[in-house]
Amino acid sequence: MLDKITELSHEYGTPEYIQGGGGNTSAKNEETLWVKPSGTTLAELTEDMFVAMDRQKLGKLFETEMPVESSAREAAVMDLMMAAMYPYSSGRPSVEAPLHDTLDATFVVHTHPQLVNGMTCAKNGFEVCKRLFPEALWVEYVDPGYTLCSVIRGRIKDYVASKGHQPEMVIIENHGIFVASHTAGGIRKIYKTVMNGLRKEYKKEKVSPHLEVGVPPSATLKEEITKVLQKVMGKEAEGVCASGAFKVASGPLTPDHVVFMKSYPLIGDPTAKVLTAFKAQYGYFPKVISVKDGVFTVGPNEKNAELTMRFAKDGALVEQLANGLAGVKYMSEQARGFIENWEVEVYRQKVAMGKT
Ligand SMILES: [Zn+2]
Repeated sequence: MLDKITELSHEYGTPEYIQGGGGNTSAKNEETLWVKPSGTTLAELTEDMFVAMDRQKLGKLFETEMPVESSAREAAVMDLMMAAMYPYSSGRPSVEAPLHDTLDATFVVHTHPQLVNGMTCAKNGFEVCKRLFPEALWVEYVDPGYTLCSVIRGRIKDYVASKGHQPEMVIIENHGIFVASHTAGGIRKIYKTVMNGLRKEYKKEKVSPHLEVGVPPSATLKEEITKVLQKVMGKEAEGVCASGAFKVASGPLTPDHVVFMKSYPLIGDPTAKVLTAFKAQYGYFPKVISVKDGVFTVGPNEKNAELTMRFAKDGALVEQLANGLAGVKYMSEQARGFIENWEVEVYRQKVAMGKT
């Protein structure tokens, strides 16, 4: 079972399905759930890295009264999850472990493909989903973490009540897809159906599934822009990544995009005055800067800036696809605010645990 889920993790850990450490996979039998640890990428997963959890203890999560305040709730959930881990197991289970446990199927593969998110971020996403994948369970946007797990758990119960079995596909607005099957072949078959169905739909709507990127900016332009970014943003812009021009996403698409790119890019030349005004308006400096001849991403180091560029391109394609349907629909103010604060909380916890 573990070799099969590792193989699936690598297969669906490619940029077509996921960027950075996003997405998660699991396998289970009656007693045990093996789930991807947080902070690892699907592509790098090895069999011994899966976190082994006692399903009986994990099930208690939904029988326990949880604090209402979100960071206290997330902390209580994490405590219960750590307590459900077998003593021989190490790592930190993915926050979505309880959702993996709720799905009865042996294998669960959760990803954020651009083709899927073009639909989940479209104004008519629900209609398109219902028409293309009538058997899928569509769930309107939910804050990630425990809320996501408990809301979807309830929706799965409703689904079972009306259809007599659990869904094989759970598609979440402004987020991504969960695919569940008892066999690895089943997972592949469902993903193929989803990806091919969407490819046909975009073709019908005459929207390209590829992002057009212009020629790389000149060394002089990169130097000029890097200089001003570093002067104004200091350590936050130690890493700068440059790309040829493309049409960047203008707002918050999914939780992962907000985590890496913040909710809004800066469109226009980044002068000191413009950057300061941007920060005054949004509370942070931009992570993505789009000028006429290129796109620049910044981070505390090169690696982070490069990862942000991957998300910028991913988001640009998602927005392009969504606009090819009935138009892009961004996350609500409340939803993006939750992620921006959630990140702070996660970071704070990391610091508290001595991990940074
Ligand atoms: Zn996700």
